[in-house]
Amino acid sequence: MDECIFCKIVLGQLPAKFVYQDDDIIAIKDIHPKAPIHLLVMPRKHRESLKDIKREDQEVLGKLLLVVQKVAADAKIAEDGYKVFINSGHDAGQIVFHLHLHVLGGWKKAPRWDV
Ligand code: 5GP
Ligand code: ZN
Repeated sequence: MDECIFCKIVLGQLPAKFVYQDDDIIAIKDIHPKAPIHLLVMPRKHRESLKDIKREDQEVLGKLLLVVQKVAADAKIAEDGYKVFINSGHDAGQIVFHLHLHVLGGWKKAPRWDV
């Protein structure tokens, strides 16, 4: 937990581009976006992955999706649609072991490389 980069972002010890924050949740821009809009939504409280969530996390876990809804609307990708996913564990490609939801979208408005 001490070496968790997302905990450091939560604590303001590492910079990030915040798009949302409240007492339980933050949302930031992904540093290496894989889509025109790529946001990461996460609980402030450290949980390594889905294997570590507890019953007491239920409320925050539900709230994460409401924050996804809000940041997607703010980023103007709600109408066209967007992907939401969690990489949970090594085999899924998780590289930062602080539970987070990826929100990707904005393809329609992206520059086209084939014109
Ligand atoms: P994972 O594979 O763990 O689900 O995804 C981790 C994501 O975090 C990756 O998309 C990666 O680009 C992003 N990331 C890694 N380090 C940083 C960082 O220091 N700041 C931000 N904003 N994103 C990061
Ligand atoms: Zn953490």
